[in-house]
Amino acid sequence: MAVPLLDINRQHADIKDALTKVFTDALSSSMFIKGPEMEALEKEFADYSGTADAIGCASGTDALILALQAIGLKRDELVITVPFTFFATAGAIVRAGGTPVFIDILPDTFNMDPDLLDAWLNTNCAITNRGVVHRATGKRVAAIMPVHIFGQIGNMDSISATASTWELPVIEDAAQAVGAKWKNSKAGSLGSIGCFSFFPSKNLGALGDGGMLTTNDPALAARLRTLREHGGQGYLHAEVGTNSRLDALQAGFLRVKLGKLEEWHAGRRANAEKYREAFADLDQVQTPVIDPRAWSIYNQYSILAENRDELLSYLRGKNIGCAIYYPLPLHLQECFKDLAYSKGDFPISEKCSDKVISLPVFGELTKDEQDEVIAAVKDFYKK
Ligand SMILES: *Cc1c(COP(=O)(O)O)cnc(C)c1O
Repeated sequence: MAVPLLDINRQHADIKDALTKVFTDALSSSMFIKGPEMEALEKEFADYSGTADAIGCASGTDALILALQAIGLKRDELVITVPFTFFATAGAIVRAGGTPVFIDILPDTFNMDPDLLDAWLNTNCAITNRGVVHRATGKRVAAIMPVHIFGQIGNMDSISATASTWELPVIEDAAQAVGAKWKNSKAGSLGSIGCFSFFPSKNLGALGDGGMLTTNDPALAARLRTLREHGGQGYLHAEVGTNSRLDALQAGFLRVKLGKLEEWHAGRRANAEKYREAFADLDQVQTPVIDPRAWSIYNQYSILAENRDELLSYLRGKNIGCAIYYPLPLHLQECFKDLAYSKGDFPISEKCSDKVISLPVFGELTKDEQDEVIAAVKDFYKK
């Protein structure tokens, strides 16, 4: 039996009429950009995330770029992040004019290692009247950008403590983590700004591109609203922003889907639990390790597997959907060779890139399909 990695059609089946109505309503109102649908979604999304404000934009990548601009990132300043993430995390830093500094991840949760973050700041930086400065280059450090990878928030107690010691803003790359929790706080409410993506394969996916920013700081919210429309008020521009708005159509679709999100999270979490039990006695596989203080939404179900490449071919040979997120850590990407990192600099990220493989975990996966995936993985290691 073929098993897809993700089948969005199944998720849309029982909301098809509601989605169609959003389209016909937009067609008759001719309200295509922003408008009441977007304002309503912003309000609902802020409530859902437990933040004072939410600001729609065109994509998760734009959310990151706008957030960096809003906290005052200037050309060539440094932004601390991780190498084991989707490209957009570091790509956005560069697009916003900054330079990424990578900190390795933890081998169990794949989140930024808070001890390495501390050590890097303590070893390399000083607090000066210009803020935090990297001593060797004289460059200012503008922000810390942790990534809530695969739907799990990392240790935000430690990261926030470090950020407040150094008085650095935290920008959450929460693109994979809508609704995920650290203790009782949701993604997007733990830093200065949270950045979300509505790319269709995210847990809350639009029928196209879309993004959202969250913040509790009214000044940042106002700045973000201005920056997403060319930095202007009316036709007067104090600074240069961009065009990054959320369409009314996508906002309408997302409002329908937000109402189903908790149910979809529950389906993914149940499937993850089933894998965990099924693979518990399989020494060749490390199933996702979830910190007891974190509540994952499993945007991906990513295991570390022995003979990963052979396992990938084996599963693909059986038409079982699987994928490698991500095969090359960002410090080794061609486009970042000027950053002068080399192989061996971030051994945990490199090891994870060699061993990681993601299995189907979407909520509508049937029992038979999941049993097929489990049997295939077990058979592979029995050979
Ligand atoms: C998807 C994703 C983004 C970018 O979101 P887009 O909406 O595709 O621009 C950024 N960071 C991470 C970690 C992501 O997974």
